[in-house]
This record gives sequence, structure tokens and C-alpha cells, in this order.
Amino acid sequence: MWLQVSLLCLFYLSVPSQSQAQQRASLYRSNDPTGQCHYTFTVASPDETSCPGGSAKPEIDGVLSRLTLLEALVSRLIAGVDGGAASEAGNEEGLREAYSQVTGEKNQLQQDKERLNRQVRELQKRLEELSREAEDLRSKPCLQTHTSEGAQRENRPASDPAYDSGNGAYQEMKAEVTEVPASHLIPDGNHNLTGCGEVLSVGDPVLHRKADSITGKYGVWLQDPEPQGPYYSNKTVWRIDAVGKDVRQLFAYEDMEQFSRGFPMKVLVLPEPVESTGATLYQGSLYYQRRRSRTLIRYDLASETLATRAELPHAGFHGQHPYSWGGYTDIDLAADEQGLWAIYSTSKAKGAIVISQLDPKSLEVKKSWETNIRKNTVANAFVACGRLYTVSSYTAPNTTINYMFDTATGESKAISVPFKNKYRYNSMVDYNHAQRKLYAWDNFHMITYDVRLGRAS
Ligand code: CA
Repeated sequence: MWLQVSLLCLFYLSVPSQSQAQQRASLYRSNDPTGQCHYTFTVASPDETSCPGGSAKPEIDGVLSRLTLLEALVSRLIAGVDGGAASEAGNEEGLREAYSQVTGEKNQLQQDKERLNRQVRELQKRLEELSREAEDLRSKPCLQTHTSEGAQRENRPASDPAYDSGNGAYQEMKAEVTEVPASHLIPDGNHNLTGCGEVLSVGDPVLHRKADSITGKYGVWLQDPEPQGPYYSNKTVWRIDAVGKDVRQLFAYEDMEQFSRGFPMKVLVLPEPVESTGATLYQGSLYYQRRRSRTLIRYDLASETLATRAELPHAGFHGQHPYSWGGYTDIDLAADEQGLWAIYSTSKAKGAIVISQLDPKSLEVKKSWETNIRKNTVANAFVACGRLYTVSSYTAPNTTINYMFDTATGESKAISVPFKNKYRYNSMVDYNHAQRKLYAWDNFHMITYDVRLGRAS
């Protein structure tokens, strides 16, 4: 561009004496100390050998000045055209990006608003339902009577999902219950409970109750084989729905019939949350693993207090050594004819089942055995007559009890006693030596299996 300007200037400057001047005019361009560009014309006078008074200087200065101004103007124009185009394109792209971002945020906010509105509506609906339920229950006081003092202490409806029928239905149910033969209320009435032995066979599952909400997908239900105190008996049925992060509700049912009907006589709120399905009942206490810890808790049912808290030394917990179905089944507690047991594993045992006999009061380990049965390869375990048994699968409808470990000899052996997972998701199996039955929780279904013990041939 500077060349064009130079030629233009040369044209104007050379008009008066073009032929001579063209040969003698020259243009120089250089920066001054501030970086400003300067153009300098040198034109020899056609008829003067020297400058008499410097009269031409103002004219040349004026030309130089105009040239400088022209160059500056051209530079600005060039810069303005290029910069303007770039700036405009940049601005347009920026605007598009900002618009897209704002539109995205607006859509997200709209979705959040709709979701929150839905939640509010659901909560309002639930609140109305609960208010109606509470009003209904207040207007129809429960007339249920109990034989035990503990039951009378807590003569109020509990929050079992099924406990929503009116008083009339309840009275009708009570009438039916009174007609049930006593042998049905005492499941062990027809069994010979004398003598210990090895598990020879397990009967078909007998259904007692099906959970009707998602919290009952898996859980623990039991009867105390050796109840203590005046409040509860060996007929009392206990249940914990184990789905959830803060499992604390322990439902008590007067007997198996009430349990089957879904009418708890009481709900106890445990002082610490329960982990998974390994809890057990023994001698008037609920024993369970505190959530996300190797802490064992003995909860006294009569006084409704935390009686003992103790660590199970080195026990894996919260997914370190669960049974094959997972569910944080790292520590499984069990009771049998010989006492209280913990079934678990440690890092030292490298995932093999460790069985420890516990002191029922202090929860201290009395003695431990390390087996060669990998805990995560079996679905569940229970103890009967001092022998540990493992169930092979929690989903196969026809599986087996596949290992037995005898704490008397310290030896294990593979066995194959048929066992049925009728509902295909068996999350808890526990032995009750007073009833001589296995209690299990199979995919919402609370079931028992008869067990036959004897001398293996
Ligand atoms: Ca078990």
C-alpha cells in the first residue's frame, strides 16, 4: 500500500517538470525513534544549484505533512476494514454461543421446575393420605387385646403396610384366629425335637407372609428359640425389612397367625441402623451388625435398650466378604443348640468363612475356626448342632446345601442336601433349633423349611 501512495504522490509532485524530476526524485521511508513511519521525498531543483533562502522547504514540508496524514488515514481505513470484519464475525459467533448457552440453561431450569412440581404434588398427596389414615385410626381405636404385659403396654396400631384395614376386618380376623387349632399355632407341636445330628433333609418351603412393598424385597424374620422375660414368647414373630439406608424398625407380631395377617402388635425403633440380613434372635435379645461397621449390637427386647456393643475383631464388612448375592452380607449371626455364632471372613482368612462362637452377653469371641469354604461362592449359611452349613445358590429353584463344617472336629466336607429357592432370590437363611426349622426370606416371601436331623449314613 505504501508503494501505491508513493506513486500517487510522485505523480502529483512531478507534473511541473515531469521529465527531469522523475529521474531525480526519490522517496525514503523510515521509522522515527517513537516507531512512527516517516516518508521523505528528495527532489533536485531543475534550475537551482543551491537553496538560496530555503523558500521551497515549507512547500515540501506541507507535502510531507499531507503525505503522512494520508498514510495514517489509509492505515486506519485498512485496519478498520480488516478489524471490523473480524470483530463482527467474532461478535456474531459469541452471540450465537451465548444464546445457545442461555437456551440450554432455560430448558434445564424448566425441567427442574417441572420435576420439583411433580415431587411437591406427590408429597402433598402422600401427606393427605397419611393425615386421613391418622384421622381414621384416631376415630376407630384398636380393641386388640394381648395376653402378655408387653403387648398391653403397646396397644397401638403399627405401621406394617398391611395394617390399614378397619377395625371390623380386624375383629373378623380375630374370630378366625380363635378357630385355628392349637397345633397350628405351635409349629413344633408335631415334631420330635430330641437329639442333635447332621442335616439329613430340608422340606419344601412353607409360605407365611409376602411383603407388599419394595422395602420387603429382602429382610430378616425370626422367632426366638429361647425367649426370656415376661413380654415375649417363643410364639412372638419378629421382622425387619432390610431394604434401605437407615433400617431401624423391628416389627413384633403376637404369633404366626398375626404375622401372616400382617398385624404387628408393636414396632420397636432400634438405636443403631441394621446392616443387611444377618441379624438373629436369642435369649431375649436381637443381635445384629451395625450398618457400615464390624460393630455387633445386642438389643434387649424387654427393656428396649442397647445392652452390648462390641467389635467383631478383623471382620470384613460392607462389601468386603459378602455372600454371593452381595447385599453387604459380610457378617451373618446365628444361634443354635450350642449358643451364638458369627459367620464372616477376614483379610487374614482371604475370604474363607470364619466361624466364631460368641459370648451372648459380652459378644466377645470365645473361639474361632477358619474353614476352607470361600464365603463369596455360597449364597448363605446357618448353624445347627454346632455345624455350619452353606447354601449353594440363592436363585436356582433347585439347589443344595453344599458344605458342612463341624466345629467339634474342625473339618469340613462337601455334601448335597436338596434345597429349594422357590421365589428365586433367597436373601436370608437362619436355623431355629426350638422349631427345628429354617427361616428364610426369598424375594418378598417369608418362608420356613422343616429340617430333619440325624446320623448321616
Ligand atoms: Ca444366615
